[in-house]
Amino acid sequence: MNKEEIIKSNEDHFMTVFSGRLPIVVDRGQGVKVWDSEGNEYLDFLAGIAVNALGHSHPEFNQALKEQIDKVIHCTNIYYIEAQAKLNKLLVENSVGDRVFYGNSGAEANEGAIKLARKYFKVRDEERYEIITTTESFHGRTLATIAATGQKKYQQSFTPLPEGFKNVPYNDLKSLKEAVSDKTAAIMIEVIQGEGGVNVGTQEYIQGVRKLCDEEGILLILDEIQTGIGRTGELFGYQHYGIEPDIFTLAKALGNGFPVSAFLAKEEVAAAFEAGDHGSTYGGNPLACVAAYTTLNIILREGLVEHTAEIGRYFQERLNELVEEYEFVDSVRGKGFMLGLEVDLDAKALVGEALEKGLLINAVSETTLRFLPPLIVTEEDIDEVISILREIFVEKS
Ligand SMILES: *Cc1c(COP(=O)(O)O)cnc(C)c1O
Repeated sequence: MNKEEIIKSNEDHFMTVFSGRLPIVVDRGQGVKVWDSEGNEYLDFLAGIAVNALGHSHPEFNQALKEQIDKVIHCTNIYYIEAQAKLNKLLVENSVGDRVFYGNSGAEANEGAIKLARKYFKVRDEERYEIITTTESFHGRTLATIAATGQKKYQQSFTPLPEGFKNVPYNDLKSLKEAVSDKTAAIMIEVIQGEGGVNVGTQEYIQGVRKLCDEEGILLILDEIQTGIGRTGELFGYQHYGIEPDIFTLAKALGNGFPVSAFLAKEEVAAAFEAGDHGSTYGGNPLACVAAYTTLNIILREGLVEHTAEIGRYFQERLNELVEEYEFVDSVRGKGFMLGLEVDLDAKALVGEALEKGLLINAVSETTLRFLPPLIVTEEDIDEVISILREIFVEKS
């Protein structure tokens, strides 16, 4: 198919939910670069929205998947799976979780986490089922997860939503305290809100939330779907705050592009689940587990978490130069390779201009540009991005 046919097929046959697709057809990728169907080259500083942690076409990752495809792709959790066993061990040994369950998308992991929190109180004969979340959060697109997502634009067309969710402002401990009732089962937050605009939870807030949960005897669920697996310069976002969640969820970078998600919990919490309480046909299948195991193994072995912390700081410094240079560039937010640049310009238009200059980024609000590069990017890649941004900004000043 040529480019026009591909675009037309989307217009004619695809559900009309992605109106603002950018006018390129992605053809292939290598490392931090991707090429479109016309051979144009791009620096990929979006990584499929924080997914391609190892970059594109990582040789060891691709090889591991190819070998597994020729062995067995899927079998069902009725049988034991070696790759799953290896992944369980790697995740549990490198996190505060004691038990894990696998799904296929972020929303599905959050659904599982919510079910586990409710079950935890059912087995204790306590009528606690409510989950408190924050406004500007993002937890997924299923009915329960849009109820959890504190943004009206995702909710309003789909009411009535499942009951038992309350949304309160982020980084606001007082509102959170007021929202807790004798029906509250859990507080569910992101340590850095991703889709809501790269909003960083303060030390005081995140630690305060943990303390509040302890005082009230309720559970802390961290949605680490975007912040997890090295993205912020720690393997998991909670490590920046010196706290431990009771349940946390992973997806995005976990499979480096292969659809796989997980939720992990402390033993005492996980113990609430009994046979038959949860399940998944595909979840944790051999190919998905090889993808996740290989990704995590490479990230840990190659020191990509430390690399992200170090080069992420360099990236922030370079972005801060732009803040100094241009009055319409306001501030930088984020940690590691999860960064937002606040501008006094139309961020969506800037994304289009960046695309024309060979840079893939996106906008998380009218005025926020977001950078989520693969964890492998170097200072040279960042220098290139800064010079592209400077070219765009120079034309505006
Ligand atoms: C992307 C994301 C989700 C949803 O993941 P899907 O795989 O699209 O269902 C949930 N929570 C956070 C924090 C995310 O960034």
